[in-house]
Amino acid sequence: MGKIKGVEFNDAYEYFLKNAGNTGMEKVKAALAPAVRESLFSKGSILAVEWYDYAAYVNFVFTAVKILGNNQPDFLYNMAVYQAQKLYNGPWKLFFKILSPSFVIKKAAQFWRLSYDSGDVTILICTKDHVSFKVTNFPDIPKDHELEQIPFFEELMRVSNCREPHATHPKCIARGDDCCLFHLDWKNG
Ligand SMILES: [Zn+2]
Repeated sequence: MGKIKGVEFNDAYEYFLKNAGNTGMEKVKAALAPAVRESLFSKGSILAVEWYDYAAYVNFVFTAVKILGNNQPDFLYNMAVYQAQKLYNGPWKLFFKILSPSFVIKKAAQFWRLSYDSGDVTILICTKDHVSFKVTNFPDIPKDHELEQIPFFEELMRVSNCREPHATHPKCIARGDDCCLFHLDWKNG
């Protein structure tokens, strides 16, 4: 089972808590299947260095978006923006300011294994306004996972001074393809 690092889960949890408070969060937890709730919340607090089941995490995120945000795409999008902002405002801030966007995006893709315990990233194309990469060896990656990853990458492009950031996910292991393929495009300046 593929897993996600607790720090990402904690950022998502924090975003939903800021928006809906404890009452809203209790509603979300109550709506989860017992096995999902158990795998994510059995330890009480979310531990940043712990690994959590990725499918359970995605299920939690989609449930929270449905219950707290009426399934509004912006509500989900802004959650991933919040995660990217936490990263941007952390120790990497200078890194984003001084390096070229293509380098930042390429590195972010290569750092996949800091956030997930599964998946091997291969950079396919890297130019001044485009990065393509594929992820293999993540057999149980959940369907629609890109909905919480595309906004993250688009926000990283934004803070790296890219204009009109745009990410697509034309191939997906969860849809039967041999890899998860991401294309990231932007305009410089
Ligand atoms: Zn995919």
